[in-house]
Amino acid sequence: MDSSAAAASTNAGFAKPLIAALLTAAIVFALALLGIYTRVAFDLASLWPANAALLGILAIYPKANSPLTWVLAALAYMAADLVSGGDLVRSATLNATNLVGVATGLALIRLWASRFFPMTRPSSVVHFSVVVLAASLACGVAGGLVAGPLLELDRLEGFFLWTASEAVNYAIFLPLVMGGRLIKARKPSPTDQDDAGLPEKAAAIAALIASCGLMPFVGGPGALMLHVPAFIWCSTLFGPRIALVLSGLAAMWILFAVPVDLIPLYVDHVPLDSPWDVASFRLGIGSLALGSLAMVMLNAFWQDAHDEIEHRANHDFLTGLLNRREFNKTAEASLVRQRDGTPNVALAVDVDHFKSINDTHGHPVGDHVLQVVAGLLAAGLRKGDILGRLGGEEFAIILPGAGIEEGTRVAERIREAIAAETLHHGEVTVATSVSIGIVEFHAPANLPRMLSLADEALYEAKNAGRNRVVAHKSAALLRAAGA
Ligand code: GH3
Ligand code: MG
Ligand code: MG
Repeated sequence: MDSSAAAASTNAGFAKPLIAALLTAAIVFALALLGIYTRVAFDLASLWPANAALLGILAIYPKANSPLTWVLAALAYMAADLVSGGDLVRSATLNATNLVGVATGLALIRLWASRFFPMTRPSSVVHFSVVVLAASLACGVAGGLVAGPLLELDRLEGFFLWTASEAVNYAIFLPLVMGGRLIKARKPSPTDQDDAGLPEKAAAIAALIASCGLMPFVGGPGALMLHVPAFIWCSTLFGPRIALVLSGLAAMWILFAVPVDLIPLYVDHVPLDSPWDVASFRLGIGSLALGSLAMVMLNAFWQDAHDEIEHRANHDFLTGLLNRREFNKTAEASLVRQRDGTPNVALAVDVDHFKSINDTHGHPVGDHVLQVVAGLLAAGLRKGDILGRLGGEEFAIILPGAGIEEGTRVAERIREAIAAETLHHGEVTVATSVSIGIVEFHAPANLPRMLSLADEALYEAKNAGRNRVVAHKSAALLRAAGA
């Protein structure tokens, strides 16, 4: 199975091969032009996002990967070169090397598609780095051996310079182009409220900008790493996509500022003056970008694992509802936030004759009944109501802000919905019902006391014949509970 198909985009522009080919070629043309204008050293652009964009697009939009796209993309590279005054034979040779690199990277990504869409484990970053290296080496071999002499470069020098230049560009731009697919979408977790606020995020960005701004004043090879601490700070505060953009921007700044001698790399301020120096510099910045990617992705993996463990710790495995501990925590937190006197209703819900369902139809049918009941309970509530499975076939609900009339209406609606439901489990059909005890109370409230009063009312509902709602009527108890 081609799992890259599973990652196929819903992006309408790339859903049709012809439009995808035209769009891709337009992007390659625009980015190649941009790259041409950043050519500072040895006719090999400092920033060359076109190859990473083409590789990224072909990897994430399978429909775009057609012969037509390859032909149009090749023409787009050529057109950008010719428009900016390049020579035909030379640009054909140079651009063929770009395509060799893209094809190599694409072959590897397709081979490892299940690791990239999305990345879900640290080893994915290693595979991603191998893709970057392989695409760069392929381009470097083609560029150094074939095109090197065209640029009056020694073949070996050409190979290193070419490989390094490709590596830094793939390392920076490929994660940006593929970001949406590489990074697993994450639902906000309940603990996210502990996360940093705007002032800390602004301070981290300011630190990143300041450390990049310091580079020209500090100078020397070490200046290139000055932003690392601030980037680490940013990567802990921002989501992976923004963190990748920040690391990309820092790397682009360095790639631009060193060759134009804004950041003097050596103590005696000699600019980069040999292909070896440039290759070494670019390889270093490319490695730094891959290191940043690893850090960003490790943060994302950690966050993912944390979310999953947290979800498992807080939720009941069978029904997906809050478990007893989390129900209590959430309800207590909601009550604490209330102003004194705010009404609330607590409901204790218990499935009727559940044991006989288990005994008659077996445990799996019983489990299915619990899942269906949980779904109907959840469907009968509003946002902000708190529902949990306290254990077995017992559920509890808090309706913050509701009085006894509203609570009774909600309870009746839920009871009727469950009584009206006929459950189908394979061949078996089961009818079921619930009994509900309810009690009104006012903030500041004692939750365990409230639940035990709701339980008392539930007991009455059971004794009165089940499949009914009974409200706790003792005003004295209500006052005591509210105290
Ligand atoms: P009542 O109408 O008085 O509530 O009677 P009941 O049979 O519902 O109550 P009882 O407390 O006697 O039985 C509850 C049963 O629920 C016993 C227990 O085996 C079963 N049970 C508890 N947890 C689960 C579960 O996760 N899955 C299944 N299938 N059964 C469970
Ligand atoms: Mg029961
Ligand atoms: Mg029970």
